[in-house]
Amino acid sequence: MQSKVAKNLLEGVGTGNGRVLTEYESKKIFRAAGIPVTEEILAETIEDAIAAGAKIGYPLVLKISSPDVRHKSDFGGVYVGLRDEAELELAASNIREQALAEGIEFAFLVQEMAEAGQELLVGSKRDPTFGPALIFGLGGVFTEILDDVSIRIPPIDREEARRMVREIKGAPVLDGFRGMPPLDIEAIIDVILKVATIMETFEAITELDINPLLGYEKGVLAVDGLIVL
Ligand code: ADP
Ligand code: MG
Repeated sequence: MQSKVAKNLLEGVGTGNGRVLTEYESKKIFRAAGIPVTEEILAETIEDAIAAGAKIGYPLVLKISSPDVRHKSDFGGVYVGLRDEAELELAASNIREQALAEGIEFAFLVQEMAEAGQELLVGSKRDPTFGPALIFGLGGVFTEILDDVSIRIPPIDREEARRMVREIKGAPVLDGFRGMPPLDIEAIIDVILKVATIMETFEAITELDINPLLGYEKGVLAVDGLIVL
């Protein structure tokens, strides 16, 4: 892992307890650890966001970026499938208006639109006694309503990570479901092991979330990320 990148970043943001890294900051750490993340550009102004949109290409995704907003869609800060500059500009104005109304610090995150895939989640919570528990599950209702997740305490090897992936009740979804191709289990295992490495390397991280990680027939992609110090 290019731990220097992550170390500099963590030192740069300070390690105040409860400090929440934005999606953009969190994904820099994921990228440094070798986890595939979306292409994205942070923009301060609407004009910068439009310039970033031209680089990323349409359709794209626009999100609010703010240390004060942990759940971006609850805030009304996630716009997917924007088709052109006009739609981007409108979405950015909406975000700006809302952020100004709430008096929060904010920027725009202009992001590539990911292909549809299976929503997964990989995360970790550091327990003072047991250390960083690793969590895997399917995204959405599987986790939120059915509580269908598997948990391990590192160190774990590849085989253990594979058992972790296979043991959720929703495992049949991983093998192809309703005409969907089977997912790339090895790529999912890679992400779980890399998250374990991040948590072991950086003790200042108390919580880490990739939700969702999109799973494909070939590869995975982190489209959202959150790190708490
Ligand atoms: P939140 O902070 O609310 O969790 P997310 O970044 O996870 O915000 O975005 C909410 C949802 O929008 C995701 O669960 C995913 O379904 C969709 N989404 C987010 N980013 C992308 C993207 N780059 N491409 C496609 N869909 C996305
Ligand atoms: Mg999310």
